[in-house]
Formats: sequence, C-alpha cells, structure tokens
Amino acid sequence: MGLLMGVSVALPAQEKPENPFISPFDFPLLLSGNFGELRANHFHGGVDFKTQGVVGKPIRCIADGYISRVTVTPGGYGQAVYITHNNGMTSVHGHLHKFMDEVQEVVEAYQYEHETFAVDLTFEPDKFPLKQGEIFALAGNEGYSFGPHLHMEIRKTDTGEYIDPLQFYIDKVKDTTAPRATHVMLYPQPGKGVVNGSSRKKIFSLAGGRSPITAWGNISAGIKAFDYMDGTSNNYGVRSVKLYVDSVEVFSSSVDGFLPNENRMINAWTDYEEYATRNSWFMRSRILPGNTWRMLQADEEGGIVTINEERPYEFRYVLEDLYGNSRTYKLIVQGKKQKIASLNEGKHYLAWNEGHVVRKPGMELVIPKGMLYEDVDLNCKVIADSLDISFDYQLHDKAVPLHGGCSLKIGVRNFTVADKSKYYVARKYRGRKASAGGRFEDGYMHAQIRELGTYTVAVDTIAPRIVPLNKPQWKSGNIQFVIRDAETGIKDYKVYIDGEFALFKFSSKNARLSNMHSGRIKRGGKHTMEVIITDYCGNVAKEEYQF
Ligand SMILES: [Zn+2]
Repeated sequence: MGLLMGVSVALPAQEKPENPFISPFDFPLLLSGNFGELRANHFHGGVDFKTQGVVGKPIRCIADGYISRVTVTPGGYGQAVYITHNNGMTSVHGHLHKFMDEVQEVVEAYQYEHETFAVDLTFEPDKFPLKQGEIFALAGNEGYSFGPHLHMEIRKTDTGEYIDPLQFYIDKVKDTTAPRATHVMLYPQPGKGVVNGSSRKKIFSLAGGRSPITAWGNISAGIKAFDYMDGTSNNYGVRSVKLYVDSVEVFSSSVDGFLPNENRMINAWTDYEEYATRNSWFMRSRILPGNTWRMLQADEEGGIVTINEERPYEFRYVLEDLYGNSRTYKLIVQGKKQKIASLNEGKHYLAWNEGHVVRKPGMELVIPKGMLYEDVDLNCKVIADSLDISFDYQLHDKAVPLHGGCSLKIGVRNFTVADKSKYYVARKYRGRKASAGGRFEDGYMHAQIRELGTYTVAVDTIAPRIVPLNKPQWKSGNIQFVIRDAETGIKDYKVYIDGEFALFKFSSKNARLSNMHSGRIKRGGKHTMEVIITDYCGNVAKEEYQF
C-alpha cells in the first residue's frame, strides 16, 4: 500500500461529475422562486427563472431527449412541455408563450378537432426528439403566472420524484445571502405541556426586546423564515432547518426532493392552521405521526422537547441554503413549574393511525386510515335550521388537513329546487361558501373533502355571467370577455363564429376569455358569434353577438 506512516497523503482531487444539464437560456440566470417554496397544499416543484421581464425568450433543451407530453390548461402551468431525457430525468417547462412550430401545429389541430382549449397529449420518443441546446418553446406568462418567467422542474423519470434543479446551476446563479427568520412558535403538547401559563401555541418575535418565555412539560417549536438571494428582492423557501436544544439536535428538515404522494405532506410539516387562517407559514420542528415525508429527521420523540427542570433551555435554530450560507438564532426557554391543563377527550377522538366513521343525524363522514397526520379531538356540532336545504355540520372548529379525499354525505331536507343536479356540497368559512362539488343520490349529497370544516348543502341555479370587452375592436379579431360564475365555477365554454368553432383561451387568473386566432375571421361583412358558458351545476349562459 502506498500510504506512509504518520503522513497524511492527499487523495487525488475528486473528479467533478459532468453536469448533465445546460442552462435553458443564453442570458444570466436569476430566480424568482426556488425549489420547495411553501405553497397551498404543495411544495413548489421546481425553480422559476426570470426572463428579463419579457415573454418570448427562446428556451433551449437542457439535455438530449424527446418531448413526451404537452399540456394546455386555463390555470396551472398554462402551456407546458415535458421532456424525457436520456439520463433518467424528465424536465417540465411551464407558463410557455409558444411551442416550437411542429408541436404548435399538432396542438392546434387537436384543439380544433376536439373543440377544446385544454389539451393533454403524450408522444412516443420518435415524434419530437430533441438534442441538447435545441430550442423547443418560448418562455411566457400563461396559466397561473403573474409575471414573465419559466417554471422548470426536474423529476426522476421512474419514480416521478421532484428534485432541486438549482443543484445543476449552482455555478450559474450567485447566492451569498443567508436565510432569515422572524418568528418562533412554541406548541404545548395537548394535555402534556404549557407555555407562559397557557396550553395554546404562542408566537415569539426574534427581534430583540422580548419578554422571558417559561414552559413546562412537553413542547415543540416551529419557525417562520425565508431565504434570499443576491441581486433580487424576492424571498424563497429555506432549504435546511436544524433545531438544537442545549446543543443536541432534535430536528432537521432538508427540502431536497419529494415524491408526488409526499407533496401534500407540506400540510403536516407546516402549521396548517396558521396558513389557512392567517396566510402565514411556520415550518414545524416536529414530525407529526402520520407524516412520512423522508426529508424530515428527528429524535425518537419526533421533535417534542421535555422541559422538566427549572433552568434555562437553549433553543438554537440553524437555517442554511443550498450554497451553505447559514444563520443561527437562539431563544431561551426558562423551565418553570406550571399547572398543565388536563385533556378531556371528547366523544369523537380520532386516532391518527385508525380509520373513522363520524355520524350525526343526516350526515356521515368516512375518514380512511392514512388520512390524518395527528390525533384530532373532533369538535362536532349540528347546526339545525329546519327551513334550510340541509343542516350545517361543523366537522371541527379548526382547519385540519386530510391527506386525501374523504367521503362526506349530507342529507337534503328541503328540496327548494326540483332539479337534483343543482345541489352541491359547500364548505362554509369566514362568511363565505366554497363548492366541494358532489352528486345527489338516495336523498343525500355525496362529496369528497380534503379538509375538516363546516359543511352544508347549497343550490346553484345561477348561470355564469358574460361581460363583453372592447367591442369596437372585435372586427379586427381582438375579441375578449370576462366570464365568471358566482358559486360552483366555470366547467366548460364554447365560442362559435359564423357557426364555426373558434378557439378561445381562458385564463383563470383574470377570468379572461380571449380569441386566439384572429386571422381565421373573414375580413369585412357581418359576423354572428355565439358564446356558451356552463358551470359545474349545469347552468348555461348563452349569448349571441353581431359584429
Ligand atoms: Zn414556478
């Protein structure tokens, strides 16, 4: 062996693995969103590359492969291209302005043939093969996008796992700025802990001048923080959070990847109630028992800290980004004996690791095993008004996420409308009603719900509203409408000009319906246009216009 005693021999420099991906753009990369940012019911599955404030930037294929899928949707990615690469990865590119000509032709032919704007097409490898560097689309601002950018994901082709694309572009994106936190939340364990004399969770600012914190029993913590990068004013998700108590690591998270089925676990990791009621994100330093997301690590207590000595406990948070920029925060929690309110388990105590059926007069909720992330002491109430279409059912007094759809059926008591297709299940919150859809069968409305809350049955008999815009410009082909539906939402729309299907784009972010191919309208003469909009309860708005 070539090693000399007592002398440390440097190993040959590790060969840097060759980067499998090139930049999608020929200009410097800046991010407006990073991987794993916290969003409603999902992690941000990719990075958002800025496109210098404009639409129409050509996008280069980042590695050899082929276009395997193309989608067009009123919301979401708007127009997207999926490229299956030869290296086991698939890249997804969203909010596109335009596809390359050959793809654009296939998409449009499908749209006219099937009289639809929405498209979801898959292709064999030999249909649209691509070489690294080839331009396959122009970046845009379509779908649920509020400024020109390219949303780009990299997924493992076999498992569908989302991974962080930034790891392939580290040398092309500058970042010397560490994450920053603003608040810590402390959570007493129900019936087992107390913070500042209360069994409720309590928020603490990390800015100076805070009053002392006392606690006793079992508590856990959470932190509100964002990451920042050089040369932008955006904020980003924090890749890594570690919590130490008295120098012992009790919890760490690292947003490196997630499988499609782990995406909703964001609701178990973050403080869902804070998000749902205050639109505020706290990353909890605790693994709820039903949370199986692999990127969380904790001691055997799952991140729960026991305060059982009258002394200061040092909570130390270390936040770090992909570049290793890190920042540390300390919080002293003084152990102080305090009375811990005991927990009175209610009638509907739902254990996280079991399935449950909750029944009340005229209502049944089925929660299969695997849908709860933690035990719920369900506060269930029937709010009965015998004149209403149905009773209101309070299925808990706090926002609780469910991992998947759970069947809810509610009896219809007063048929205010004969047509059963007009009924829907509605969730009531903050004085509003949100449709959970559903169908009528055997006296009940049946729906799938993904969150506990207050539910009832409502009726939608009101057709969508069509508001024409800038009529003087219609002759030049620039035809636009705003279409809205007050209750169940727009399910479908069709526009015919002189009896022929006309392709209109619907953009759900601004409710705008706009003509896509003005060139197809014959110049001169009078035209007749028919607009038909249908909502989810089958109410139809039909308008005819001359121009
Ligand atoms: Zn994005």
